[in-house]
Amino acid sequence: MSAQIHPNYIGGQWVEGPLFENLNPADTSEVVGLHVAGIPEDIERAAAAAQAAFPAWSGLTGPARGALLYKVADLLEQRFEQISAEMTREEGKTLPESKGEVRRSINIFRYFAAEGPRLAGVLASSERDRVQMFAVRKAVGVVALITPWNFPSAIPAWKLAPALICGNTVVLKPASAAPLSAWRIVEACHDAGIPKGVVNFVAGAGGSLGRALVEAPAVKAVSFTGSCPVGHKLHALASARRLRIQLEMGGKNPTIVLADADFASAVENVANAAFFSTGQKCTATSRAIVEAPVYDRFVEALAQRTRALKVGNGMQPGIEIGPCVDEGQMSTVLDYIEAGRQECGAPLAGGRRLTGPDYDRGWFVEPTLFAGVDPQAVIAREEIFGPVLAVLRARDFEHAMELANASEFGLSASIQTTNLARVFEFIRGMEAGLLTINLPSAGVEYQLPFGGTKDSSFGPKEQGPAALEFYSDYKTVYLRY
Ligand code: NAP
Repeated sequence: MSAQIHPNYIGGQWVEGPLFENLNPADTSEVVGLHVAGIPEDIERAAAAAQAAFPAWSGLTGPARGALLYKVADLLEQRFEQISAEMTREEGKTLPESKGEVRRSINIFRYFAAEGPRLAGVLASSERDRVQMFAVRKAVGVVALITPWNFPSAIPAWKLAPALICGNTVVLKPASAAPLSAWRIVEACHDAGIPKGVVNFVAGAGGSLGRALVEAPAVKAVSFTGSCPVGHKLHALASARRLRIQLEMGGKNPTIVLADADFASAVENVANAAFFSTGQKCTATSRAIVEAPVYDRFVEALAQRTRALKVGNGMQPGIEIGPCVDEGQMSTVLDYIEAGRQECGAPLAGGRRLTGPDYDRGWFVEPTLFAGVDPQAVIAREEIFGPVLAVLRARDFEHAMELANASEFGLSASIQTTNLARVFEFIRGMEAGLLTINLPSAGVEYQLPFGGTKDSSFGPKEQGPAALEFYSDYKTVYLRY
């Protein structure tokens, strides 16, 4: 069967062009689909189409925009099984994980559809007699959305839905390693009857398209999720044009395990946060910081759990860990494992690329656990974005907090403890945007603000009510009657 072609979408038209392959990372002999590789001129046309569509779209009532977003959610729901399977085939995560993500995208569209009739502004009481004062929300304009491959549906959804409900028009540039999941959302927007030009989609090489997006005169704001180096480059370009910008970037997320924790659940939570989705979640745990009294027992139990994880093609039932997304990502992971070996000795679990008939056509690495890691070691400091965990020993809670905060990143952090006072000390002192307690550090919902602090993030938070702050501005009115 020949692979389906997925054109770009500009001004309501499906646009053909040269193609690039979207390969299955579990079996690279499978071409999941062919995507049109856009060029900077496509971005210019897409931004112009979005600008042309802006007055009518932003002029619709909130409930009317909301009704269209509900339709998008319904279409994604009707196509749920297909879209979930495609996500596993293009990104590699397991089918249950893909289903969870597509479900989340549907929920995100419904959540923001429901904002349509609300879109609350601010009403305040004036100091002056017979003066009515209020602030109404208004759309920002054309927004550029640049997204990564690791949540190829949820991240486009959590940018697109709030952008649209606030009345903005968009140009979406998905990651080249997994563009199909985002394309399916755009297809649903088209089929739902969202007017032409409101949503535009241009796939292709990030470097040239990203730059063209930030430089397109029509673009007024940029929402980016991805790596720190790319985010910092975009920030510099966007600042020169005084664009509104939001950056969600890397992490080096710690989980603190205290001696009083529920032991079995702490082991499971750390294994889940470190290795599920192949460690390719921005909120994954990559440092476990374990209090001395339980350190040896914890490391032993975690090593045992790590060795037992079932790695393979995520379409097969029972598989817990899929492949790295592509060869480049796998090489990065293997290089960090080598650096770990040099600095910390042999890993207690994993440490190799998997080989054999089930693995040779994919990018599989064993879930890997290094113990006794020095806080200064490269694998304790740099984001790896793969199934590699560094375990550090802490003398006590205070030392664990010190180690946890000794990072330039501040995305997510977790603590495993039954001591309520420690929980509140952690909430108070931990330098991260997302905190979990007795849960994995990864696995957030859509109803609350999402984002990090320190070098992990810049600008207003995403998701939940906070998302509206980035995608809308205020117009403040004083009226004497
Ligand atoms: P990436 O290489 O930075 O790519 C992200 C997006 O930017 C892709 O669409 C990419 O296009 C595009 N891009 C690449 N170079 C560009 C440039 N010079 N100008 C503009 N756009 C450019 O990141 P990734 O490898 O896809 O994703 C992994 C990273 O994302 C990790 O660091 C992870 O922590 C982070 N992440 C953060 C969050 C969060 O919420 N904080 C969530 C998920 C992931 P191409 O694909 O065509 O290169």
